[in-house]
Amino acid sequence: MANKTGSAIFFTGVGKPLEEREYPLPDKLEPGAILVKTSIATVCGSDMHSWQGRRPFPTPSVLGHEGVGTVMQIGDVLRTDNSGQVLTEGDRITWTIMAACGECVFCKQYGLPQKCLHLFKYGHSVSDVPPYFLGTFGQYVYLKPGTGVFKLPDDLPDETASPLMCAAATVAGGLEKIGLDPGDSVVIQGAGMLGLYAAAFASALGARQVIMVDILDKRLEEAKRFGVDHILNAKEMEPGKLIEAVKNRTDGMGADVVIEVTGFAPVVEAGVKMLRIGGRYLLQGAVYPNDSFILQSHDVITKCLTLRGLHNYEPKHLGMALDLVYRNQQKFPFIELAGPRFPLTADGVGKAMGSLEQREGIRPIVEPC
Ligand SMILES: [Zn+2]
Ligand SMILES: [Zn+2]
Repeated sequence: MANKTGSAIFFTGVGKPLEEREYPLPDKLEPGAILVKTSIATVCGSDMHSWQGRRPFPTPSVLGHEGVGTVMQIGDVLRTDNSGQVLTEGDRITWTIMAACGECVFCKQYGLPQKCLHLFKYGHSVSDVPPYFLGTFGQYVYLKPGTGVFKLPDDLPDETASPLMCAAATVAGGLEKIGLDPGDSVVIQGAGMLGLYAAAFASALGARQVIMVDILDKRLEEAKRFGVDHILNAKEMEPGKLIEAVKNRTDGMGADVVIEVTGFAPVVEAGVKMLRIGGRYLLQGAVYPNDSFILQSHDVITKCLTLRGLHNYEPKHLGMALDLVYRNQQKFPFIELAGPRFPLTADGVGKAMGSLEQREGIRPIVEPC
């Protein structure tokens, strides 16, 4: 790879124009590392939040943590993906949003590699030092050792696969942790990207019914295409009416599982009251610091509730998401979640961010020209 270079789109600070920069590709890869040539990347809401300055962010950095690419070079003789398939140059892959050390207490003992003491996250770090290509908004991505990797089936389109790395894998992890059982009645609060995957996955895993709560009619209608059986508009109904509506659809008992993926913490108060005795609550959306909700301890204790928070995911959850999306891609229009398309240039990535800001698309695509 000596003397070869590649370009990536750099974010250098809020309000500053994005910059296309050229850097050398690595001469030699660390054992277990992989150099990937980007096929497409998709823009996540959190990329936009970094770009808008809504959270502190290291610069200069290559943003982007969703993508699909082709293996160009592997850092040792033999490397398998996380499902045990041998990886070779030319394979089409997706990978986890992070690399973990595999050795620390969170990796080894607590089953939370996403909280690794030496955690690295793609699209989240200073990238003007080798190996440079640390986000998906570049012609190449350098996958560090400790990154979960999955080979993609030929008949899974790039557009369907790219968003798996973030929203879909996060939701798959949540459903595994909360233990979704066939026959469960599931309420989902929030029909965004996480909510649509949650609905489709819950339906595919055999939920008796999926009830979606949101405040936008357009999103609620869209959700019906992703396995939702019943919609409730929280703008038109008081919390008490929403709780009553859920009870009416669950023989007066309440839901087995409620999933919060709105990003709006106050909804948890009503969500807890939608649960049946012994119900389980999965909290994944309202992740912003200093957000809070009211919780009546009486409800939690006397109804014997389980509340479970989950941030990011383990490599196996990307495998679960891949499997669920692959097996159900004819049933649910996952492919339509990605778009519109923009070139992988400074101008193109800026326009993609703008289109997400204007809600023209839920996952704009950027692709090398
Ligand atoms: Zn994301
Ligand atoms: Zn670790």
